[in-house]
Amino acid sequence: MKKITVNANTSYDILIEGGLLKQCGRLISETVKSAKCVIVTDDNVDKLYGDAAVKSLEDSGFTVSKFVVPHGEESKSHNQLISLYNFLCERDITRTDFLIALGGGVVGDLTGFCAATYLRGIDYVQIPTTLLAQVDSSVGGKTAVNIDRGKNLVGAFKQPALVITDTDTLSTLSEEIYAEGMGEVIKYGMIRSLPLFEKLSRGNSKEDLEEIIAECVSIKRSVVQNDEFDTGERMILNFGHTFAHAIERAAGYGSVPHGKAVAMGMYMITHAAEKQGKAKKGTSEQLKKCLEINSLPFEFKISHEDLYRLSVGDKKRTSDKIRVIICPEPGSCEIVPLDLREYRELIDLV
Ligand code: MG
Repeated sequence: MKKITVNANTSYDILIEGGLLKQCGRLISETVKSAKCVIVTDDNVDKLYGDAAVKSLEDSGFTVSKFVVPHGEESKSHNQLISLYNFLCERDITRTDFLIALGGGVVGDLTGFCAATYLRGIDYVQIPTTLLAQVDSSVGGKTAVNIDRGKNLVGAFKQPALVITDTDTLSTLSEEIYAEGMGEVIKYGMIRSLPLFEKLSRGNSKEDLEEIIAECVSIKRSVVQNDEFDTGERMILNFGHTFAHAIERAAGYGSVPHGKAVAMGMYMITHAAEKQGKAKKGTSEQLKKCLEINSLPFEFKISHEDLYRLSVGDKKRTSDKIRVIICPEPGSCEIVPLDLREYRELIDLV
């Protein structure tokens, strides 16, 4: 088993190995001192792993309730959040009890935000079951729900008490959802690790999953430890995301999955940066090959006008500058502040 410790304002472990879900009760009992918990999950994940999680927790002496939401982004809503708060009240969940997020990013974000706010904050444990959640959303403590005006606009920083990553759960993912997670995995290689990028460029990531996930999580850990509250370095995790958010909005939320939008966003900005001499010649071609071998798209048809309009309102913007993340070559990145005219010039090269 791999164990990675994150030292944020609270410190916690991320445990990575195939088969951990069935041991979650014992693993949690070593960290959390409480007898009562609520598992939050979605209907798909519940069918696959709900019973195993409940059994393991009950075997370790926990009193367990389960709150099941429909799968999909729609469940990351304030309506669902209010239902969850009410459910916790009905079950007499107190400050010393805890929540478990069993599922992908939607369940993790909803549960984390609920844990950050219910009774002014209770503990929660992440058991991520998608590749995207295992390498990204379950680590780092960003939680949020969507509101009508946009995604993730209401949230909190709330670190989990423990993250249990069972790599066996990835075997039940569709090729589609697996590939989506690879978008974020490749991002880690691009921003921080040439060896990881090279490994991913050879394809067959499934043979070395535990190691790859651990590498991604280690990168995220070091970035989060330096900048837990997202005021500086943490921004590099947003490589490809400024364009990705524009692509997701242009396509209509849900029609292009996040990881695929990130894949296209990374290529498009690298391609434009290369034309400006901000990235080494050939970098975008290397990235394109890596995306392709991992069944990911690299281009999205969008006018420069729309790309500008839909990306300029991004959360990463300060009043008159937009900070873009550029990788001069695989394995390294820079935060580049551009005024709006310079940003428009970059987009015209996409
Ligand atoms: Mg992302």
